[in-house]
Parts: sequence; structure tokens; C-alpha cells
Amino acid sequence: MKIVYSELEKLHHPQYEFSFGKLVPYPEKNIRAQIILEELKKRSMGDLVVGPDEFPLDHLKAVTDPEMVDFIQSCEHLKEDESVFPHIFPYRDFTPDFSAHPRINLKKAGYYAFDVGIEIDRDTFTAAKASVDVALTGADLIRSGREERVFSLCRPPGHHAGYSHFGGYCIFNNAAVAAHYLSTMGKIAILDVDFHHGNGTQGVFYEQPEILYVSLHGDPAESYPYFSGFADETGSRLGCGTNVNIPLPAGIGDDQYRKYLEQGLLAVSEFHPEVLIVSLGLDIYKEDPLSNIGVSSGFFSEIAARVCSLNIPVLGILEGGYDMRDLGVNGANFIESLATTG
Ligand SMILES: [Zn+2]
Repeated sequence: MKIVYSELEKLHHPQYEFSFGKLVPYPEKNIRAQIILEELKKRSMGDLVVGPDEFPLDHLKAVTDPEMVDFIQSCEHLKEDESVFPHIFPYRDFTPDFSAHPRINLKKAGYYAFDVGIEIDRDTFTAAKASVDVALTGADLIRSGREERVFSLCRPPGHHAGYSHFGGYCIFNNAAVAAHYLSTMGKIAILDVDFHHGNGTQGVFYEQPEILYVSLHGDPAESYPYFSGFADETGSRLGCGTNVNIPLPAGIGDDQYRKYLEQGLLAVSEFHPEVLIVSLGLDIYKEDPLSNIGVSSGFFSEIAARVCSLNIPVLGILEGGYDMRDLGVNGANFIESLATTG
């Protein structure tokens, strides 16, 4: 078991976001991964922690529009007090030839953004690339056969970022990059237990038969990201049947969540993947300010134990989770269980 972490991930630290017309403190704090790391050290798991290797951008660009990657990277040239805040968006009934005009233009951030939840500054690319490298290092430890279980403390999170869009606090899709990297081994499954539907991950692999995406999440009829995550989204073309959405009723708590989790795990085991990636959102926790599912702190240990019972290599990747008081304990509960379950 190894745990991958990078200090560089903290460099991206927006202060505010617009939420339903109000300027509110940014919930995706830059110390989220560090808080979990500190709790792991308290539990004497510090010697399992390794830094990331640096990977070429090709792995990221295999599942991300290279021009979007270049756009985020171009923001490295901003001044210290400058930032890009998407606020103008191309609309659906107007489809000009965008290639005729450069999109590497800071006023056109809305071309790639699907919400106004992200502010980009000159350090954002460094942090988001570090988060991708943390995921890829975990994937490489498994692909090379050196480890059977790894947890990548990715931050910023990734599951809302798609091939050519970012948003929902996510810049690049860490789990998707890792899944693509691991796919040389054979079939890969992704189990996403974040409270919010991973619209980005779903989109990247929607036509892909060799990568299964299973997501348990708050019902999009009521919950972000609203436009995706419905049960009838099952994949298309060659990927028909390899997308499984399990929308959850509000307030279900541990007992009922357990039943839905079993549904998701059954879909994973029937797919017979070589590796399982778990997109771990700690925002299903009962005290989380951005969700309504209500599982307990101890339940994160149980999720990890059930995942381990499938007897395949597991790569855990941190997604959301915004209750800063218990985030460290909840994350460490999952990771410790991943490390200690036989
Ligand atoms: Zn979430």
C-alpha cells in the first residue's frame, strides 16, 4: 500500500465562488488533501506516503482536449494579482467556426467552463498538473505490479472535468487520466461514490467498451450537476451498457446506502476489470455542507473494506468532501481500511 501526495496541489486556492447569485467562500479548500495526510501521520501511516513522479502531458491530453490543456497552461503568464473568471459562454443555438478565432484568450474562458465555480490564476496549472501526476503515480505503482492498493490524494478534484470542459472545482479529470493509463492492462472499472455525479468521467468514457463507469450520487433532479446522472444514461455506441448511474434518494444514511453500494459493486464484479478505481467523494458524509446523503464517519471504512473484498487491485482517488472538521478522519478511515483489509 502506498499513499501519493504533492505539496504543489495547494497552489490553486480560489477564495470565493458564485453560488446561486451570491459570492460565498470557496468550499474546495486548498488544504483538503493535506488535512487527510496529517490524520494519516497521526495514525502512524506516514511512512506509506510517497511524492509523485512527473509524467509527460501526453497522458493528460489523451483524455483531454489538448487546446484546453494549453489554455489552462497559458494562464501561467498572468500577473500575481490577475485571475480568469469565466462569465461569458457560447450558447447552444449559435455555432460559429470557433477555429477561426483563437481560443487561447483569457476572456474566452467560458468556452471551456461549464459553470462559474472556478477561478484560474497563474498557479492553477501547476496545482492541477500535480494532481494529475499524483493520480498517474498511483496508476503506475499498480500497472508495474509494485502495489496492489494505492490511494492518490488528488486535489483539485477531477470527476466533473471532461474532455473539453472544466468546472465543479475540477480542472483536469485525474481518475480518467489514470483509467486511460491503466487500460493497457485490460478492462478498468471506476466506482464513483462522490455525492455529485461525475459528469466529466461519464462523458470521457461514454462510448468506451473497455472502461466501466459506475456512479452513486444525489439525484440530479435535485442535485448538482443537474444536467446529467440520470439512470437512463447507460453509454452509447460501443460503450452501450458500460455506464451505470445510481441516483440516490436524500437522507438515506448508512443502512440504505449499503444496499445501493452493493448494486454498484455487483456491476463492477460482473464486468471483471483488471483494476478498480474508486473516485472517493467524502461529501456523502452527514455533516457535509454540499450534500444530503448522511453517511457516518465509520462508513468510509466499510466502503473500503467492501471494495477490497472484490480481490482486484484498487486505486483510490480523492474527489470532493467539504466538511473541514471531519475531512481528515473520514479520508483516513477509508485509506486505513484500504491498507489493513486482508
Ligand atoms: Zn462532490
